[in-house]
Amino acid sequence: MLEKEIKQQLAQYLELLENDIVIKVSVGDDKVSKETLDLVNEIADMSKMITIEEAKLERTPSFSINRKGEEDSGVVFAGIPLGHEFTSLVLALLQVSGRAPKVEDSVIEQIKNIKEKLHFETYVSLSCHNCPDVVQALNLMSIINPNISHTMVEGSAFKDEVESKNIMAVPSVYLNGDFMESGRMTIEDILSQIGSGPDADALNDKDPFDVLVIGGGPAGASAAIYAARKGIRTGIVADRFGGQVMDTLGIENFISTKYTEGPKLMAEVEAHVNEYDIDVMKGLQAKQIEKKDLFEVELDNGALLKSKTIILSTGARWRNVGVPGEAEFKNKGVAYCPHCDAPLFEGKHVAVIGGGNSGIEAAIDLAGVVKHVTVFEFMPELKADAVLQERLHSLPNVDVIVNAQTSEITGDETVNGITYIDRETNDEKHVELEGVFVQIGLVPNTDWLGDTVERNKMGEILVDKNGQTNVPGIFAAGDCTDSAYKQIIISMGSGATASLGAFDYLIRH
Ligand SMILES: Cc1cc2nc3c(=O)[nH]c(=O)nc-3n(C[C@H](O)[C@H](O)[C@H](O)COP(=O)(O)OP(=O)(O)OC[C@H]3O[C@@H](n4cnc5c(N)ncnc54)[C@H](O)[C@@H]3O)c2cc1C
Repeated sequence: MLEKEIKQQLAQYLELLENDIVIKVSVGDDKVSKETLDLVNEIADMSKMITIEEAKLERTPSFSINRKGEEDSGVVFAGIPLGHEFTSLVLALLQVSGRAPKVEDSVIEQIKNIKEKLHFETYVSLSCHNCPDVVQALNLMSIINPNISHTMVEGSAFKDEVESKNIMAVPSVYLNGDFMESGRMTIEDILSQIGSGPDADALNDKDPFDVLVIGGGPAGASAAIYAARKGIRTGIVADRFGGQVMDTLGIENFISTKYTEGPKLMAEVEAHVNEYDIDVMKGLQAKQIEKKDLFEVELDNGALLKSKTIILSTGARWRNVGVPGEAEFKNKGVAYCPHCDAPLFEGKHVAVIGGGNSGIEAAIDLAGVVKHVTVFEFMPELKADAVLQERLHSLPNVDVIVNAQTSEITGDETVNGITYIDRETNDEKHVELEGVFVQIGLVPNTDWLGDTVERNKMGEILVDKNGQTNVPGIFAAGDCTDSAYKQIIISMGSGATASLGAFDYLIRH
């Protein structure tokens, strides 16, 4: 079942097992059960430290990974964890066996302190690059704390369950049977969601920073490294370390690297940040900044951080179409990540709203999976690059409606259509379809700033050539600013500018 190369890699990993493992497997007569059994047998054949036991688990086919002679770990894979989930399987084997995870001690403490019983279920697709982070985070929580258990459910093996729960976005996480959240989440996000985030008192006790960076994308990481290299006290507060790059699959314009992938690049960036004395505070959102003797930044958990200077690098998020139905049917047919969610729309008719590069790239990707794609573009023609348009028009299962102003996304339990105004004739029209991918660009994450710093009408922060805002001591960088272009390398450059600007400011004040 496993390809030769993967088997070789796995063999190397299995040499790192620290204790004996028992895989408890629950299988029936169906095809996926047979494949599940083949997979676990193949793994067990590769290491004397792994044995298999038949068991009756909640789902069939599924298997749990446990340390021999100990209470079950709570880590269960329902369906086959290959594709993007193969790493989750390997990590689960190693971590259940006792190998230490690469997670900060403070996070492990937070997990250990959870007292209530938490059972998580994560619905995934094997092509979803956002899913493994969530699966691995919840597996780890389950391994660390016996009160926690986690089952990864591979959607295509449990289609009835996915349909009955109307799951149309992955990863979708359920906690104790109720929907919790969908989309990429880090361990810190999950801990915040369940009210076990960083301790506010410990944050309040921190000494003031020289530079406090708000945002942990390319701009924030670069700003923090530049500041720390000056030997000044530097901190980063990041809601989600990695930023938008975590949602990017292929990157071919990061100079010096012909091809990389977003999560890989940001793992390297994070490792670079960790080389320096930078206080990284993840899973926290800044809510407000006030200027007193120092700048005081209030966080969503109520803590207050103080700093002599601030660098804002809060980036941007997907823009909503803002029509009735969008919020109601989010994850019930309205989606934003084609790479993640396309498999859930297999054989269905979907819309892409937006005819720019990201919209057309999404339409091309989707066309390979779904039955039909209709692109809705507000303007009289598509705005995407010619090469993308050519590729789009060569596909047999795509059509394009221009001059279309979406007025509603309709549905009952899930999306069943789009209503739009034909801007040429002013007629209202309706197209029946089952999914809507919104691809109309981004908005800066700056609403929380109120009138603290000057922004343009798009909400972008205005900065001068040193990266300084209209408030002396507050700097800004990256996609949250009015920079003409929004790219990784540009964000990193402007992070460096803002940091050097902040250092100059500190010397003078
Ligand atoms: C799908 C996609 C594909 C892309 N492909 C490419 C590409 O191939 N090449 C390229 O160069 N660029 C690409 N880009 C653009 C690139 O990702 C961005 O320009 C870049 O990530 C911007 O970096 P940033 O640090 O300014 O912001 P972001 O990456 O958006 O990071 C913002 C950070 O701020 C945090 N944050 C937000 N609000 C708060 C708050 N209130 N408190 C605390 N933290 C907060 C976020 O959690 C995050 O850590 C792509 C973008 C997308 C969406």
